[in-house]
Amino acid sequence: MSIQQLPDTLINQIAAGEVVERPASVVKELVENALDAGAHRVDIDLEEGGVRLIRIRDDGGGIAAGELPLAVSRHATSKIASLDDLEAVATLGFRGEALPSIASVSRFTMSSRRDDDAHGASLQVDGGNLGEVAPKPHPRGTTVEVRDLFYNVPARRKFLRAERTELGHIEEWLRSLALARPDVELRVSHNGKPSRRYKGDGQLFSGERLGETLGEEFAKHALRIEHEAAGLRLHGWIAQPVYSRASADQQYLYVNGRSIRDRSVAHAVKQAYADVLFHGRQPAYVLFLELDPTRVDVNVHPAKHEVRFRDARLVHDFVYRTLHDALAETRAGIGVAVST
Ligand code: ADP
Ligand code: MG
Repeated sequence: MSIQQLPDTLINQIAAGEVVERPASVVKELVENALDAGAHRVDIDLEEGGVRLIRIRDDGGGIAAGELPLAVSRHATSKIASLDDLEAVATLGFRGEALPSIASVSRFTMSSRRDDDAHGASLQVDGGNLGEVAPKPHPRGTTVEVRDLFYNVPARRKFLRAERTELGHIEEWLRSLALARPDVELRVSHNGKPSRRYKGDGQLFSGERLGETLGEEFAKHALRIEHEAAGLRLHGWIAQPVYSRASADQQYLYVNGRSIRDRSVAHAVKQAYADVLFHGRQPAYVLFLELDPTRVDVNVHPAKHEVRFRDARLVHDFVYRTLHDALAETRAGIGVAVST
């Protein structure tokens, strides 16, 4: 076979393999776009675990009608324009890949209106085939509808799990988001019934959203963490050792506001708890690490679940030391005997 340039739709479908694993990944990308657009309230309507329908509506800045086709084009983004921007990126998105990927493996509609526009507009994309931009009434903000995910990619469709399982993945993702952004109201419905509501009153740090999200037991036993050194800042909540988990299901780490999995930081936390947790038990925590964006590379994987720290050792030791000292203080404070 001779060498050929692949058509855009196929390129997008290939890229979708990395960005869109399941309905939860679609919800993640779309809600992150809503947050990047400055939304205060996001409505998430789901049908059949998100497989039949995911509809995300936000009250953010919106998109100009003429830019709707660009929004669903590959490598088109309003969030960075240069390598320097990438190094200091403060938005959740920056790759310009999510919408074209999602739109290439679903029946996709995007409707939007900016504050100053007299009319809203809408664009349909069916399995990657762009329709025409059409006028459509819409309040300020954006609505994205994703129907029949993977309808044209049977190999991916086969990997979708039962409705409850897919819904569970979405809920877990939303929980992690709700912890990071207590200032945003999130309303979720499933199969036409309201299923979850996070009020956007910014109350995480007085403990309200913490309890709402991770349960009152966690909130009751949570220690407030707040420490800064060497340009690193760690804040959030860790559970006292009396509250531990059988699995690592309540371990939330955010780096500059982005939800992240990081082995080295997870190890540092585990080590800090080594003396105070029974063998096999897992700590629970919600930790926010802030550092200068030039000290961390967020462009490691298309799904952006991982980052690379310039000085990983420093970060590890900082997290370990901060939590170790906080745990030692409470032990001293409540007079629990400590074996060394
Ligand atoms: P990225 O988020 O990496 O820029 P996306 O493919 O997710 O790439 O989105 C492409 C562009 O479409 C964004 O840069 C943004 O300008 C616009 N966009 C997407 N979703 C929204 C939204 N909900 N509100 C306003 N603009 C949006
Ligand atoms: Mg995006």
